[in-house]
Amino acid sequence: MSVWAILVAAGRGERLGLDQPKAFAKLGEDPLLAEPLRRLDESDWIDAIVIVAPAGWEEPAILLAEELACSKVHACVAGGETRTDSVRAGLAEVREDALVVLVHDAARPLLPEEVIERVLAPLSEGWDGAVPGLPVSDTLKRVGPDAGVLETVPRDLLYAVQTPQAFLADALRRAVTGGAEATDCAGLLEAAGGRVKVVDGDTRLLKVTTADDLVKIASWL
Ligand code: C5P
Repeated sequence: MSVWAILVAAGRGERLGLDQPKAFAKLGEDPLLAEPLRRLDESDWIDAIVIVAPAGWEEPAILLAEELACSKVHACVAGGETRTDSVRAGLAEVREDALVVLVHDAARPLLPEEVIERVLAPLSEGWDGAVPGLPVSDTLKRVGPDAGVLETVPRDLLYAVQTPQAFLADALRRAVTGGAEATDCAGLLEAAGGRVKVVDGDTRLLKVTTADDLVKIASWL
């Protein structure tokens, strides 16, 4: 089967407080984008990669792929206003004959090969998609606008979901048509009636949101 990866890197990353977009913030010596790109390119499971870069940053992203001697990058396109728009832009570059599409956040640079394997497995067992998730360990409260607690939400069966997320290509294509919006691709599939399975996530897949996250992840490298 042919597995295409879409690496979404078009977020602005305003909470990092930098002049350049998050994907080009420094993680050690290299731009953040370098680590997930290199890992996808080296993965035994991935056949081709589409990079979704911030508008105006396509050229630096292509140069980076060349510097890293990536051999699987098929295209680099500009992202959109929302993550879903960026996924749509990436998916438009995925060849028609792709069977599986794996979508990964560039903001989660430490992508373990075994998680890629775990999210792909359910696709040959009748699932439309699979996502890595970690059981929630803190107590969850829903609060009102005045920060008053409204209720405690039972946490059993609640998972914090990460990327990479893997989908049958046709199911993902159907889910992104129309104006649907969600904070992850699985949410789009769920809204379209798709069946998505949660597999074991990995704490190393921490998403870079603040400057502290960059320091923490650099120390794990
Ligand atoms: O903003 P959020 O944390 O959801 O971003 C997750 C991933 O989606 C990041 O890698 C970011 O670069 C990407 N993204 C994107 N286009 C957007 C917003 C986010 O590619 N418009």
